[in-house]
Amino acid sequence: MGQNLSCRGTNHDHGLFTAVQQGNLQAVTSLLQQDPSLFHQTTLYDRFSPLHIAATNGQIEILSRLLHGSVNPDVLNRQKQTPLMLAAMHGRIACVEKLLEAGANVLMFDTVNGRTCLHYAAYYGHFSCLQAILSSAQSSSVAASWGFVRFVNVRDGKGATPLHLAARQRRPECVHILLDSGALVCASTGRYGYPGSTPLHLAARGGSLDCIRELLAWGADRLQRDSSGQIPYMVAMKHRHGSCASLLNPTSAEPLVWPSPLKFISELNADAKALLEQALMDANKEREKNILKGGGYSLPSPSHSACLDDNISEVSESELCCICFEQVCTIEVQNCGHQMCAQCTLALCCYNKPNPTTASITPPVCPFCRSNISRLMVITKIETHDETDQDNIDTNSSKTNKLRKLRNLNDGGSSSFKGLSSVSFGKLGVRSSGRVADDSIMVKEGN
Ligand SMILES: [Zn+2]
Ligand SMILES: [Zn+2]
Repeated sequence: MGQNLSCRGTNHDHGLFTAVQQGNLQAVTSLLQQDPSLFHQTTLYDRFSPLHIAATNGQIEILSRLLHGSVNPDVLNRQKQTPLMLAAMHGRIACVEKLLEAGANVLMFDTVNGRTCLHYAAYYGHFSCLQAILSSAQSSSVAASWGFVRFVNVRDGKGATPLHLAARQRRPECVHILLDSGALVCASTGRYGYPGSTPLHLAARGGSLDCIRELLAWGADRLQRDSSGQIPYMVAMKHRHGSCASLLNPTSAEPLVWPSPLKFISELNADAKALLEQALMDANKEREKNILKGGGYSLPSPSHSACLDDNISEVSESELCCICFEQVCTIEVQNCGHQMCAQCTLALCCYNKPNPTTASITPPVCPFCRSNISRLMVITKIETHDETDQDNIDTNSSKTNKLRKLRNLNDGGSSSFKGLSSVSFGKLGVRSSGRVADDSIMVKEGN
């Protein structure tokens, strides 16, 4: 930065900053052609560069033009904020992506609170920006030098990780993706062994039920104490978040915890993961009903199946899960091919409640044949919206249902059954919806 910057005010920027802010590309281009030194002009006091202003205001065309003019993507303002931090703060996803593409460093710390761009995205709850930064960090040199999980758990000047900030600011989506990316659920803001607040303490303070649900479902400890000796329950009470306090009350029923340490759970494909996560949330919400009503009698509700498709009522008995006889089979165990519903699968995996602090857990086995579970897949589903093909599909689907039932009743489905069912699914996939076609690819891969 030139020393003459300090004596130049916004009066001498020839209207550049206003043009950048308003997205006037033509004016910006001609100003920069007249005087290329304007690329490095900053505002007098805060030292915002044109790139900062473009990022803040989401002026993607101008941002691209400036980056194309080889402006340093990591230029700093007075508080050492990068344009990437400001774009993440204001949820300017296109600018975030462009800056990352231009090689912006995700591991820069401002001097306001010692925060990174990841803290900014989490604090302001900009899910897509958070996601973009995480995936860039995963493939960039940061992952190699610093380690990706270390980056996810990076602390600000007060010891807060991005997860702490997302929990405090009531950002359940951000809490979810951070946990999924390896954020430590019980991280404490205290350093060197001193007690501090956990994300659960901060969620209790913020009063977001959804954040508390996410954290508890990831194994957050309700008994951990902060620096003033309080458990999250007491924090929620103090801030008068009654419902949050009920869930955090150590005497309330414990929620199911996502069995993340299990190998086949960490290897789930996106569809199977979504199904099981939904089942976990549904199961926990059922428990919550009793907790929030004071443990009394609660009316039976259809919410258990609310997440599934409308055609559930028309489901024939043969599609029902052979464990609970309530839900439709949606998950297939591999390699044996036995099938059950998402709720039962989850109950099976959560039986030995995995605790992030204990290392080893016994992986569950298939309840039908006792063989080891190596993988969980979503069962291909036949949709019968196409009137003309209805008869054909119905025949086929009843065939596959019979196969499925046979397989579940027989111990260890024979390989010929599996071969047969994957062929028929493959055929159906061709004339059914895209989703079925996708699934048929998975069936092929699985076999
Ligand atoms: Zn079941
Ligand atoms: Zn089995």
